Amino acid sequence: MNTVRLGASTDKEFIESVATESGQDVRRCYQCGKCTAGCPFSFAYDYPVSQIMRMVQAGQKDAVLSSRAIWLCGSCQACTTRCPCNIDVAGVMEALRHMARREGYATEKAVKTFWDTFLKTVERNGRVYELGLVVEFMARTGRVFTDVDLAPTMLLKQKIDLLPHKIKGKEAVGDIIRKFKARKTT
Ligand code: SF4
Ligand code: SF4
Repeated sequence: MNTVRLGASTDKEFIESVATESGQDVRRCYQCGKCTAGCPFSFAYDYPVSQIMRMVQAGQKDAVLSSRAIWLCGSCQACTTRCPCNIDVAGVMEALRHMARREGYATEKAVKTFWDTFLKTVERNGRVYELGLVVEFMARTGRVFTDVDLAPTMLLKQKIDLLPHKIKGKEAVGDIIRKFKARKTT
């Protein structure tokens, strides 16, 4: 695991952007570590979540946006629930992912591809189509044999369907995603 580089230059604009995008005042964090203690993904992070908060306070934009941690976060909300300062820590992690994506920092390419593919299936079908998601994810990442042995059992137990479900208002759901994408590119 890495350590915080507090000596590096402070990007004040970054600190303000994180506050605006997340709606959270990260300055309130006093490094108690409760978020990190409850985070189920700390074992895989390069920086634990409390260090990410410290790095945001210190305006370490490059280190934060290029970290693996913000992509490996499972959005479980344990950190938010535990924070004694009522900081929505998971919301800050989400805002950081959006910033990283926008600014071309996406460190964990497979995670970004999974999210993109997930949204594509929702845009097309109005809800997630699991089998389509898995097949497209495999094709885009080359992870052809990942968990492929689970497919027959899941199909037999009807945990996934061969064809996408038809839902009412799928066009409206697709429109929401298309509008959001258009807003992001203007
Ligand atoms: S939301 Fe993310 S950072 Fe927070 S505890 Fe869950 S996995 Fe860890
Ligand atoms: S739980 Fe809250 S105050 Fe404690 S380290 Fe995490 S963000 Fe900071």
